[in-house]
Amino acid sequence: MSVIINDTCITCDACLQQCPVNAIMDDLSNPTGKKQYYVQPEKCVECVGIYDDPQCAAICPSIGCITWDLPFTQEFDEHFKNETLYKLGISKEGIVKSPSYKAKKYRTDIPLEKRGIGELVQEEPETLHEAG
Ligand code: SF4
Ligand code: SF4
Repeated sequence: MSVIINDTCITCDACLQQCPVNAIMDDLSNPTGKKQYYVQPEKCVECVGIYDDPQCAAICPSIGCITWDLPFTQEFDEHFKNETLYKLGISKEGIVKSPSYKAKKYRTDIPLEKRGIGELVQEEPETLHEAG
């Protein structure tokens, strides 16, 4: 991973069809039991090699709802085993699909200091206006 969806999700369903790797689950299927949409970190590739930016965040109407999380790499294995935030899938062999099972691609141009739950993927409209 990845990106993560927080509790400001309004379950509008806009992101679901945008994900090129089907990493998003709806509120009824969220394996953590929270009533919000959920990104499966073991599937999300941050849209690397497919789009320039995370497409889920680009379409999400709730700004700040989708934020950068840490890269889904072995270094952050323990983070993604946090069962409050995630419920990782299990392989056919019964192994938890944490980063040590299989790491995923991530945007190397997003530095670690810009990552962490709460770090915006999508800029506030005012920021976009000022920049543009
Ligand atoms: S960043 Fe891309 S790959 Fe990851 S959940 Fe969003 S749309 Fe899917
Ligand atoms: S687009 Fe945003 S608000 Fe809508 S379901 Fe996805 S995460 Fe939730």
